[in-house]
Amino acid sequence: MDEGRISLLPPEVARRIAAGEVIERPASVVRELLENAIDSGAASISLALEGGGIDAVRVSDDGRGIPPEDFPLLCKPHATSKIRTDDDLLRVRTLGFRGEALASIAAVAELELLSSTSGGAAFKLVSRPGHEVEWGPASSRKGTSVTVKALFDRFPARKRFLKRAQTEGSLAAQVFLDRALPHPDIDFRLVADGEPRRMLPPSSLRARVLSAYPVDFPESFFREMKAESDGLSLSIVHGGPEALWPDRRHMQCFVNHRRVQDFSLLKAIEVGFSGFLPGGLFPYAFLFLEVPPDLVDFNIHPAKKEVRFKDSRAVQSFVIRSLARDLSSSDVQRPSSLDRAEGWSSAAGGPSLWEMDAEKPNGRPSFVSERNPAGHWPSKEELAALAASRATFRTVHPDADAPFKVIGQVLGVFIVFEAGDAIHFLDQHAAHERIIFDRLTERKPLSQPLLIPLAIDAVGDDDERLAAHAEALNALGFRLERTEEGSWTLLAHPEGYHGDPGELLSDLADAGNGSEDPTRTARAMTACKSAIKEGDALDFPAMEALVREALSLPEKRCPHGRPIMFSMGREEAYERIRRIVR
Ligand code: ADP
Ligand code: MG
Repeated sequence: MDEGRISLLPPEVARRIAAGEVIERPASVVRELLENAIDSGAASISLALEGGGIDAVRVSDDGRGIPPEDFPLLCKPHATSKIRTDDDLLRVRTLGFRGEALASIAAVAELELLSSTSGGAAFKLVSRPGHEVEWGPASSRKGTSVTVKALFDRFPARKRFLKRAQTEGSLAAQVFLDRALPHPDIDFRLVADGEPRRMLPPSSLRARVLSAYPVDFPESFFREMKAESDGLSLSIVHGGPEALWPDRRHMQCFVNHRRVQDFSLLKAIEVGFSGFLPGGLFPYAFLFLEVPPDLVDFNIHPAKKEVRFKDSRAVQSFVIRSLARDLSSSDVQRPSSLDRAEGWSSAAGGPSLWEMDAEKPNGRPSFVSERNPAGHWPSKEELAALAASRATFRTVHPDADAPFKVIGQVLGVFIVFEAGDAIHFLDQHAAHERIIFDRLTERKPLSQPLLIPLAIDAVGDDDERLAAHAEALNALGFRLERTEEGSWTLLAHPEGYHGDPGELLSDLADAGNGSEDPTRTARAMTACKSAIKEGDALDFPAMEALVREALSLPEKRCPHGRPIMFSMGREEAYERIRRIVR
């Protein structure tokens, strides 16, 4: 294709392009102008807003510019340099391709466009609704600058729909960030009413994301990972399992440089993180996916926020596998710290929690509905305080074979022990749960028959859930048989299991934790119901045995993702009583 030369689309192509209201508000003007600027190959793009963009929007770039001979076509509908034929539609890699943005803007606002190609003369175009478009020679540096004013001035009904300048301004600023994020090599600036608001110099993707969405965590928490498989590739900037929020405010997805609202991609990120995410918390994760243009369709939404993949399972599974691998890779260095409650531990050699694969019949990453287990999760302020203290205090997790001294049991749930110049608090239930969970991958426990077989009624979803898990449960020492549809009999359970068999179904649901891999769910549930509980009294030999085993765990988190221990080092203890002052 002869990029850069504009021509009118044949009507049949024009018809195939999803029409619809393109220009709704200043943010839509910003979206279209920024897309054009990015498509122009610019190294630097600036956006100036006045009155939230209602009074004026100006986008300037230093891109390839528009050749003078293209000016007569510029504001005509379906004038585009980016597609010529029907087939091109499937292949477009540029952001804009409908060839109607400038025309739609010109229909509802005053538009002034100044452009110069390298070495070429500069031209200026002025267009006002209801007037002939005028253009002529001008002078300008290389690149294009478009100013849009008096939006909807001749359309009072539509102008009334606009919100306050501040609201319109923040919508426009959001569009600015959405465009700037996936293009970290381009310098982006946002100026509002003459005040510089966002300066995003060319940088790494990680630095771009963090400067656009700064958070109160040390930068060292954040990393950028890349993966490639079968023509798909991705980058994810994430904060690991420590930087967590009670909602999805720091989760975003981009496909081929476009921000998309796609729940299945968000879910894929969460499944990739499962095992590291305590219930009800969400990671800091920005996903940038690259999919061959013919395997993805953006045209279903006029603003191109929705996306349809040819093979969405493959895409989800790719995201899940890449993240899971990255999170459990042993070379990830986390700041290790005293507040090990959120501590990272290397999962090298840990059981693979991620056996979901598109190839496996049951490996389909499917998603459970959200469950927010009761319990207190830290507020943003508490997390920020934790992060600050983490940045200050650093200790090392005791080695697997480090000497330790058990002090005793406190608060009914912690085993307190001293090791390596620090005091450690081990959650006896969570630790034991993890130990059993890992053990269950290695060997099947003995089966213990029930004196009286238990009948379980399971209709609808419950029946399906039992059917999905029966095989995995039986492999763990249960004997669960389906007598007829909706009716099951439990004949035996694993030795040491002390759950109420009548609650098998709800226990299974609780153990799901975002992953519906039935093997993992069955192990998590069995481990939980076999582990010592909060409040169980332990003698010293039992406590010592538990600490020893816990220290040698490759993954120091319970199967639901919660940490199993935290510590207080000498330094922190001294600081708390001001023996040392920082
Ligand atoms: P589309 O982007 O869908 O092709 P537009 O109406 O947004 O349609 O733009 C029409 C054409 O004007 C583009 O195809 C491009 O050739 C040219 N153009 C618009 N803005 C710029 C710019 N900032 N730099 C270079 N060319 C531009
Ligand atoms: Mg465009």
